[in-house]
Amino acid sequence: AGVAVVPVVLRVHNQTHWFYLALVVLRFLLKLRLVAFDKTGTITRGEFMVTDFQSLTDDISLNTLLYWVSSIESKSSHPMAAALIDYGCLHAIEPKPENVEDFQNFPGEGIFGKIDGKEIYIGNRRIAVRAGSGAALTREVNIMGGKTTGFIYFGSTHIGIFSLSDACRSGAMEAIEELKSLGIKTIMLTGDCHAAAMLVQDQLRDAFDEVRAELLPVEKARIIEDLKERGPVAMIGDGINDAPALATADIGISMGISGSALAMETGHVILMSNNIQKIPEAVRLAKRTHRKLV
Ligand code: ADP
Ligand code: MG
Repeated sequence: AGVAVVPVVLRVHNQTHWFYLALVVLRFLLKLRLVAFDKTGTITRGEFMVTDFQSLTDDISLNTLLYWVSSIESKSSHPMAAALIDYGCLHAIEPKPENVEDFQNFPGEGIFGKIDGKEIYIGNRRIAVRAGSGAALTREVNIMGGKTTGFIYFGSTHIGIFSLSDACRSGAMEAIEELKSLGIKTIMLTGDCHAAAMLVQDQLRDAFDEVRAELLPVEKARIIEDLKERGPVAMIGDGINDAPALATADIGISMGISGSALAMETGHVILMSNNIQKIPEAVRLAKRTHRKLV
């Protein structure tokens, strides 16, 4: 009866081997030393709102820029994409994904697409390098005051900037504090900028033991690999960018309602309700179950 406790809280992914997997999960939950959380869509709701959107050149109108951005973002499943498309709609801009060619997604960085014959990059600081512009963006980032900031490039020319806000999930702080009271360390791993990561950490009253920002998907996985030397590690994430880290962790947990298909396939366990308070609950249940079994 004990092992059935785990699938009640979290659905074990592989149905055929669920009993075996539930045992493995139970074993790891008992020994868990550290839980790593992705930020966007995991700690935060992933429901962005555009708070600022500017064209940086006189030759390109705001509406043209919005049309390019919302059309290219229509091809992306990132939570930021929906916000930018909505923002376009507010300005009566209808996205035309059918006009976008050569779309590419760079997880942890941003996206690329050709529209009206123009090569457009949209994303964070790393996309600037990919666009062929090494220019320092510190001034622009500071203007945006700790929000998630996006940059738009036409070739290597910086043509636009925008910022978005997102809210923490309710119960995020409680989940982290509960894990702490169970003797488990917590760390936040994000592909977003330092300022945005620290804004979340402030809102959670410094709940995380450690915060690491501006990470590429492989860097998240490498950090998990290093952390595993200290004991079993769980990783919780929702995005395509989290897949390598979810696969590397002893227990990879993906968000069930809003998670990307890849994260759900890669995770060992799916958090059905998106409620991260279920994680300390699972640890507590595992401990209680173990006491009953032995
Ligand atoms: P997190 O690790 O917090 O979930 P991601 O790795 O998904 O964040 O994304 C990291 C950063 O990459 C985002 O903050 C954003 O700047 C950029 N990015 C990713 N996808 C897109 C997109 N479709 N449009 C614009 N920027 C993007
Ligand atoms: Mg995410």
